[in-house]
Amino acid sequence: MPAPLDVLHSTFGYASFRGRQEEVIDRVMAGAHTLAVMPTGAGKSLTYQVPALCRRGTGLVISPLIALMHDQVRSAEAAGIRAAALTSADDNRDETLSRFRSGDLDLLYVAPERASTEGFQRLIDRAAPLALFAIDEAHCVSEWGHDFRPDYRLLRPLLDAHPEVPRLALTATADRHTRADILAQLGIPEDGLILAGFDRPNIRYAISPRDGLPRQLARLVAEVEGPGIVYAPSRDATERIAAALTASGRPARAYHAGLDPAVRAANQRAFVASEDMVMAATIAFGMGIDKPDVRFVAHAGLPKSIEAYYQETGRAGRDGDPAVAHLFWGAEDFARARRRIEVETPEDRRPGERQRLNALAALVESGSCRRAILLRHFGEDPPPACGNCDNCLNPPTAADATETARKLLSAAFRTEMRYGLGHLTDVLAGRDNEKVRSLGHDRLSVFGIASADDLTLIKPVARALMARDALRADEYGGLSFGPAARPILKGEERVDVVLPPKRERRRRDRGGGSVEEHPHDPLFEALRAVRRDLARDQGVPPYVIFHDATLREMAALKPRTRGALGTIAGVGAKKLEAYGDAFLDAIRQFA
Ligand code: ADP
Ligand code: ZN
Repeated sequence: MPAPLDVLHSTFGYASFRGRQEEVIDRVMAGAHTLAVMPTGAGKSLTYQVPALCRRGTGLVISPLIALMHDQVRSAEAAGIRAAALTSADDNRDETLSRFRSGDLDLLYVAPERASTEGFQRLIDRAAPLALFAIDEAHCVSEWGHDFRPDYRLLRPLLDAHPEVPRLALTATADRHTRADILAQLGIPEDGLILAGFDRPNIRYAISPRDGLPRQLARLVAEVEGPGIVYAPSRDATERIAAALTASGRPARAYHAGLDPAVRAANQRAFVASEDMVMAATIAFGMGIDKPDVRFVAHAGLPKSIEAYYQETGRAGRDGDPAVAHLFWGAEDFARARRRIEVETPEDRRPGERQRLNALAALVESGSCRRAILLRHFGEDPPPACGNCDNCLNPPTAADATETARKLLSAAFRTEMRYGLGHLTDVLAGRDNEKVRSLGHDRLSVFGIASADDLTLIKPVARALMARDALRADEYGGLSFGPAARPILKGEERVDVVLPPKRERRRRDRGGGSVEEHPHDPLFEALRAVRRDLARDQGVPPYVIFHDATLREMAALKPRTRGALGTIAGVGAKKLEAYGDAFLDAIRQFA
């Protein structure tokens, strides 16, 4: 029986385990049942792949999506692992079954629908022994989870029929409730829970008010070279964004539920295979995309909740290289969300929804470390500054804008709470124009009471008041009081706004500086070209051959022999054999 560390070196070409991988693997090796909750990119797949290679028999992996299974099989095979999926989309099912029966598979991927049938039970009884059960995306077993899949609940008889086979449930997202549910449903003891931290240190978080979104996106895209996702709130918006980016010379596609399924699938395939494409998508896009080299995730509008934001941004930088998550928000996002809560949401769910929105308001409005806010939201106790978010890299100035806020609220009140910010600003500024005069607003006590300082603060103040539900906008932009207005007017609540320092504004818009931490290197580019050719020949995405980090290490160390190449992280025995010479040739040409 090979040792896990040897398999890590020889098959995967990695030097050491990361985070809590080793703990998880040790438990599986010892035959214990385990639930591993680890963030995206932590390397969950390795925790069942390695024991499946070390233990006798086949590792059975339950996975919810065909696309995910095929991704996994492709990557496993590239590393020399004997893997196959058994799905309606595979026409080599007979071959797979006979390989499974004769013990010629390290990993077999199946959907829960198939795994829970009696026919599958009988198949297992006649097949070679099982090395382990891996239950991927295990939150699907819980009604509390966000992707409940009833068939996950039918897996228990299969698991219980083989009590000696270790169970490993894996997920990136599970709150306390969901975790307890997974343990109970899958028969995993409480001490089998391994909970890794939520932090994704390679993701740089940045949040800016929307202020000319096309220009802001163009800047982000110019700044970050690799593949990216822009989440947009509507189908139209995804198409507009994709068209604008394409026109600017960056390959881009749209993805939303209204597209012809064939077009949608083609767009997804093109994105997965690409090294520089931007996908403008509704939130329907993402689950089942295991692309490790996504360099940025942008939000063109407010996400649903901090949980959703965390999950969506988590699709950036799975390979561990630097990545950016940039959220662009507007006060109207909050206005719309608040209207939806008050109008469309059943009454008993409103308090929870309001809380969700307030948590988002606190995140976007804050002048302090974004990562710390996120991690605290998930119950962690992070250091107060991370050094890798917009506010840490480029601290904004906070201004006490309580007086300005009170003037704005008074103006809304005196004009009977039906006018938009433009008109209220005119009144406060004392602009004696046609509309102001015809409405008689030049005779109000609030006419002309704003100072020049008030006027520079008025937009951020309006944004802050709308985000925290002190002002509500109707469909036409007319502003009226929300529940948070009175305490501010009475002087019980302060209103602070954060202001990016003027000179820094451009830099801050880009998330606090460049992510381009790697200077241009012609050898690296040449190695990427080799990778592209190999990927095309084999019909796989480039990252299946090698990750960028592996190519970068090759470019830095310039190995001249197979032996030297084999010491580079990510170069396992199979890949060395299959691709080594192509890369060595390219390196020699540069020497
Ligand atoms: P997850 O499923 O947790 O999101 P993956 O299993 O897709 O993460 O792994 C993310 C990436 O990290 C993969 O490309 C994997 O090869 C790489 N990886 C996993 N474990 C290690 C390790 N110990 N050392 C270096 N890279 C690793
Ligand atoms: Zn920070």
